[in-house]
Amino acid sequence: MLDFVHLEADLGEEERLIRDTAREFVADRVKPDIGEHFENGTFPTDLIPLMGELGFYAPNLEGYGSPNVSETAYGLLMQELEAGDSGLRSMASVQGALVMYPIHAYGSEAQKEKWLPKLGEGKAVGCFGLTEPEHGSDPASMETTAAPDGDGYVLNGSKTWITNAPIADVALVWARERSSDGTDGDGGGDGSDENPVRGFLVDTDRDGVTTNKIDDKLSMRASITGEIGLNDVFVPEDAVLPDVSGMKGPLSCLTQARYGIAWGAVGAARDCFETAREYALEREQFGGPIARFQLQQEKLAEMATQITLAQLLAYRLADLKERGDLRPQHVSMAKRNNVRMAREQSKVAREMLGGNGITTDYSPMRHMANMETVYTYEGTHDIHTLVLGDDLTGIQAYK
Ligand code: FAD
Repeated sequence: MLDFVHLEADLGEEERLIRDTAREFVADRVKPDIGEHFENGTFPTDLIPLMGELGFYAPNLEGYGSPNVSETAYGLLMQELEAGDSGLRSMASVQGALVMYPIHAYGSEAQKEKWLPKLGEGKAVGCFGLTEPEHGSDPASMETTAAPDGDGYVLNGSKTWITNAPIADVALVWARERSSDGTDGDGGGDGSDENPVRGFLVDTDRDGVTTNKIDDKLSMRASITGEIGLNDVFVPEDAVLPDVSGMKGPLSCLTQARYGIAWGAVGAARDCFETAREYALEREQFGGPIARFQLQQEKLAEMATQITLAQLLAYRLADLKERGDLRPQHVSMAKRNNVRMAREQSKVAREMLGGNGITTDYSPMRHMANMETVYTYEGTHDIHTLVLGDDLTGIQAYK
């Protein structure tokens, strides 16, 4: 596997073990039929508990059954899973970074004990409901509300594009708390307004919850995506995440997930590179392997260089995260760069495979299609550009 500047030489024993476990899992359990799942628009749900047994859900958390592995180990795990398919990494990202992380960081002791072990073992599935039909890049303008009602809240609204919603046992729904006088506030979203955004752990079998599947995707087909409808859904007071209020809640979860994406995208690109290199060495035209042509070698050289640069950024992010110096803007740069790199390089790999490259027999076009989602979700490429622009100039350009 491509590791041109020997980054893996510095890995510790635990990091190697996690990398190898995930690599083997992908080779044995994912690669053989992921193309078929992609074609059929299905996710291999039988792997959900197995992924739990192998420790793939939030192993970087501490306690409640999580082993607290290093951030590099967690990154390597995401890299190996996404080398299989972005749908697989999305499963682990949503469950770990977007559901377990917020319960761990902001939940009550009872919420942690109820959900973290079950989610960690893959005995329950969680989803993260932030995006709404009219509010994607600007989630602070959300319309979903939570109105105080006796000893709980009544939720109303709708969420869309929610990974795993149709198979989830619990949905972490972000909603704006209504005042007791029934008003919705000004949408300030910074937690200081009277109507802050709060996180609610909603059991999906509650009355008034619907989770319809979105079927017509041309990207991320081996992943289940759906909507969440909330029609006068009563949740008790103890469903609220007590220790966070305002957009800091969902945004801090997204920083965790985007960190995993910055690593994961490298895995998808590496799989494209390995596939293209192998193909170029075997495929013969004009009396010999196409790998002997300078044009093909230039493509491989550029691909290997771009992947290596993205790997360096991912490893540096892990160091910063480990010592507590990681800023969301660092993650924006890495998510933006590494996903763009994977999007571009998957196209080059597809091209090197000629006609065979457009089938599900080979991975590059599947990765290429997936990258359209990865480029868009967890903050679009444009939005991360503007986050960096703001950080570099002090001027916000996205409002
Ligand atoms: P819009 O925000 O409408 O953007 C449309 C275009 O306008 C984009 O190109 C964007 O970059 C551009 N744009 C927007 N604002 C600006 C600006 N200020 N300046 C310049 N350009 C701008 N969401 C969840 O909550 N949970 C999930 O689990 C989840 N899973 C997903 C799975 C899939 C397969 C997909 C496709 C999406 C998922 N999402 C999820 C939603 C995803 O996060 C949103 O699609 C994303 O935030 C973009 O929102 P939007 O689609 O509404 O696009």
